[in-house]
Amino acid sequence: MPPAPVTVNEAHRDERRVRRLNSACGIMTAVQTKSQNAVLRDSYGRAIRDLRVSLTDRCNFRCFYCLPHGEPPIAPKEQMLSYEEIEYVCEIFVSLGIEKIRLTGGEPMLRRDIETIIRKLSRFKTSRLIDLALTTNGYFLPERAHALKSAGLDRVTISLDSLKQDVFKRMTGVDVLDKVLAGIAAAKDAGLEPIKINAVIVRGHNEDEVADFAAFARKYDVKMRYIEFMPLDSGHEWARADVVSGKEIRERINERFPLVKVNVARGSETSARYRFADGAPGEIGIIAPVSEPFCGACSRIRLTADGQIRTCLFSTVEHSLREVVRSGASRDEIVDYIESVILKKEPRHFINDPGFVTPSRTMSFIGG
Ligand code: SAM
Ligand code: SF4
Repeated sequence: MPPAPVTVNEAHRDERRVRRLNSACGIMTAVQTKSQNAVLRDSYGRAIRDLRVSLTDRCNFRCFYCLPHGEPPIAPKEQMLSYEEIEYVCEIFVSLGIEKIRLTGGEPMLRRDIETIIRKLSRFKTSRLIDLALTTNGYFLPERAHALKSAGLDRVTISLDSLKQDVFKRMTGVDVLDKVLAGIAAAKDAGLEPIKINAVIVRGHNEDEVADFAAFARKYDVKMRYIEFMPLDSGHEWARADVVSGKEIRERINERFPLVKVNVARGSETSARYRFADGAPGEIGIIAPVSEPFCGACSRIRLTADGQIRTCLFSTVEHSLREVVRSGASRDEIVDYIESVILKKEPRHFINDPGFVTPSRTMSFIGG
């Protein structure tokens, strides 16, 4: 009599059992090789290629759209992932198909000796990692951009919400526009390119500077990215009326500098990309998660500084990879855990639905 057909679940269980056995014996087999060519896929078929790792939830700025009422209680030190733990789990993520790692926070450059973790992670570029980037407020770049590059960082994204000193101070809570501009220059000098500049555009604050930012991109040959204000502020004061839509941003730039859509498949990119019609240097990216959601092609997951996996910026649940790792789980058990969490990734965010619930953790905790 022929054997009964094996169900998908049984096959998966068997594969895991074999992996565990092989791992215990230290044997490298086809099953493991297969897992090393694996791609993480969620239950909607989206491939997960992009991991954002928050190094700290602390910050030296007080951007009103992120941390308006000072720093919320920060995670106790013992709950923070150590550099060794971050290296360990990132190696596993890379073996599962993660191609891009972005270090973020809070302000990631507040984490002591950030070059150490960059050096550790940059070694994965000999395997499947393609891109190692950092998002920063730029404050520490003037003195440290070159060290970041030497440690193996590919590129930086720097936040810059205004080109006017008083507006910059009002939006970020600190009077350091000159320092951030010097940071951008230092990043260029160090070759941390292509440099992206992030500006959150908020009604009544900086929408009149939209075209000025485009002029900045042309002058300094950087990729200017305009971000719609999202309900992730610690004060929970976000209001739809404060959102300047991607459409309006596009129109404001077009009035002064006509744009042409960059003709590449957008893939999982967050931004719609444009170049200047007159051929000037620089590029424009518009990130419009509120008015033009792009969840269908999302390839991102996040790891918070205290070791929680977040499958969406707007998740209301988190998954403690820290506990799994610290419980002494084997590598295969960690792989199983990650795979099972990815299957729980939300189909989309629900910002525009009547029952939308703001996540309790804010952008500075989640890792933007
Ligand atoms: N501190 C670094 C910085 O500001 O670049 C990295 C972390 S910050 C949370 C990452 C990005 O998230 C920044 O570009 C910031 O402007 C953006 N961000 C923070 N809160 C936001 C919000 N409520 N809506 C849209 N973007 C936000
Ligand atoms: Fe700090 Fe960045 Fe949040 Fe501003 S956006 S408060 S710099 S974490």
